[in-house]
Amino acid sequence: MKIFKEIEPLRAFLKQFRQPAGLIGFVPTMGALHAGHRALIETSVKECNYTVCSIYVNPTQFNNPVDLAKYPNTLDTDIELLEKAGCDVLFCPPHSEMYLHQDHIRFDFGLLDKILEGEFRPGHFSGVALVVSKLLNIVQPDKAYFGQKDFQQYLIVSKLVADLNFNVELIRMPIVREPDGLAMSSRNARLTAEQRKTALVFYQSLQQAKTRLQSGADFEVVKAEIKSICESKPEITLEYLALADTTNLSPLKNVTTQSVLLIAGYVGEVRLIDNLIIAE
Ligand code: AMP
Repeated sequence: MKIFKEIEPLRAFLKQFRQPAGLIGFVPTMGALHAGHRALIETSVKECNYTVCSIYVNPTQFNNPVDLAKYPNTLDTDIELLEKAGCDVLFCPPHSEMYLHQDHIRFDFGLLDKILEGEFRPGHFSGVALVVSKLLNIVQPDKAYFGQKDFQQYLIVSKLVADLNFNVELIRMPIVREPDGLAMSSRNARLTAEQRKTALVFYQSLQQAKTRLQSGADFEVVKAEIKSICESKPEITLEYLALADTTNLSPLKNVTTQSVLLIAGYVGEVRLIDNLIIAE
């Protein structure tokens, strides 16, 4: 595997693979790689001739400096995982390579970047859109792989790619979970053993809400039930539980043919998100 920290040598290297029969697959990440990331890499390896992964903890998408400072960094084991998964190129630039100026452009996605994650993490999706735009321009992949775990992020990136005519096919991959159901996340590494058990409440809430909705309960009733379960656990702070349309995340009162449940909250100081598609 080749590793690049600078844009131009990476571009020059990839140019030789931009042949008619050579598909480049791309998996952008922030590192601390786990089986969720590995599934994305392995799918790219299967579907493309050449797979590029980026590891870059993007400061412009962090609204909370503590979260940024505490974001796990496990580059050596990440490289091992990437090698095993068959990744061909890792791009892991320093900040100076990615951001030349302090002042940078901002994106506005209308309602889509103001609700849910956007409400609780102001500016987050503008930072995501900026770094994804930069990475897509740097790598110029044919296919880019994103996880359903970040459901709203996938919709934002889809809109970005469509509105700016990026020449890339986006692929959404299912959520990879721990055996007990906890969605894999780099932030899980920050949980204590006790918090790790408590963290399961988010997935359990999604499942319980799905069952209740499918048996005809109104979402407002279900939301109140889940809220009281979460409030009974001192380590949990629920930020939102939402039932939304899978295409644009507009809020729903009842299940439709395109519904997703989304949840976010804190376990102690660690912020986690999860979601469950009910119908699509
Ligand atoms: P991150 O490193 O958290 O920025 O994630 C990089 C990519 O991996 C994003 O497209 C995520 O949605 C995806 N991802 C993260 N966790 C999972 C998971 N548990 N299952 C599937 N994809 C994931």
